[in-house]
Amino acid sequence: MPDPIFLEGDRARVRPVDAGSLWLDGGAMFGVVPKPLWVRRAPADGQNRIPLAMRCLLVETEEATVLIDVGLGNKESDKFKSIYGVSNDGDPTRLETSLEALGVKPSDVDVVAGTHLHFDHFGGSTTRGTDGSLRPSFPSARYVVSRGEYEFARLDNERIRASYMADNFEPLAAADRLELVPDGSEIVPGVRYVHTPGHTPHHQSILVDLGGAQLLFLADLVPTAAHLPLPWIMGYDVEPLVTLESKKRILRRAADEGWWLAFEHDPFVAWGRAVPPPGGGSGCTLDDIEEQALAPGAERGTSGPGQGPGKQSSQVRPGDGLNREEAG
Ligand SMILES: [Zn+2]
Repeated sequence: MPDPIFLEGDRARVRPVDAGSLWLDGGAMFGVVPKPLWVRRAPADGQNRIPLAMRCLLVETEEATVLIDVGLGNKESDKFKSIYGVSNDGDPTRLETSLEALGVKPSDVDVVAGTHLHFDHFGGSTTRGTDGSLRPSFPSARYVVSRGEYEFARLDNERIRASYMADNFEPLAAADRLELVPDGSEIVPGVRYVHTPGHTPHHQSILVDLGGAQLLFLADLVPTAAHLPLPWIMGYDVEPLVTLESKKRILRRAADEGWWLAFEHDPFVAWGRAVPPPGGGSGCTLDDIEEQALAPGAERGTSGPGQGPGKQSSQVRPGDGLNREEAG
């Protein structure tokens, strides 16, 4: 196994945590982008699905051990796992074995911070025991979630229902273990939510002050490095034009301030440093890309990041429209 990767400053250390992978419809993952364009970056299988990591983030500060997102968990049926091509082991889950490999026990986690409550981000929050009962997967943790996201998840309307499963959050609420906070709240000193609406109205990215550098865990605002171009927005997003505004605002600031950007779903890219696109314009490109291959069976695309081994630079093209892509 390669050495675990990390970023560390005076204030915090971050390490990615593998919670397994899944395969989702490539068309849904890239929204209005035509397949001939996206398939060059994300090769699809015979069912038109593309591989996605579930890469959580462990943040250790002086004050607390924080786990950002928790993957899919162990509660779903074999049929569900087959539809979504889930690979996350079972008992123990991949998340648990990955944490153990980093020397972290579930009871060491002080805070579980959810970016949003979709099953592939918050399913690992609860565990089903052999007797069928549900318990918090992290016995000592407080679970932090945006209040708006929680209320949205409970709407149970036809468009969003498939993404939210009550077993992932209602048992925590019933046990008074769910801490519902305003959008953009501080989670622990040096770790805070950044409200990035669009994927859901109260979707949160998470900004970590490493001490000397900032890292933004983008979650589903920009699920893979291939989604950095501004119009490359998931069909799953409930408010895609709001996603566009969130991306413009956040990526500009990230590039201006040289933030690290961490990708939850990218099968190859863990993080990279945001830099302004060559020649100006909006969005950002990546420098100092750190790779971590997490999705078994994933093929590398022929354009964009992740098509070769080792660190690369500036492989993500600027995000100012599809025309450039079509021309290229
Ligand atoms: Zn989501």
